Amino acid sequence: MTCPICQKDTDAKYRPFCSRRCADIDLGRWLKGSYVIPGTAQEEDDPAPSGQAPEENPRH
Ligand SMILES: [Zn+2]
Repeated sequence: MTCPICQKDTDAKYRPFCSRRCADIDLGRWLKGSYVIPGTAQEEDDPAPSGQAPEENPRH
């Protein structure tokens, strides 16, 4: 079995990871993926250069 983070050999102590570092990395990814807040930090993904401004929130 190999570490899902860095593909190195797994250490039984930190299964399924090779080290505590990789376990922490995986945990961090998992937490980030679980707590993504929709509607934020997604504004730059609009390639449409139209003149119509999308809904903006001036109060922000
Ligand atoms: Zn690893």
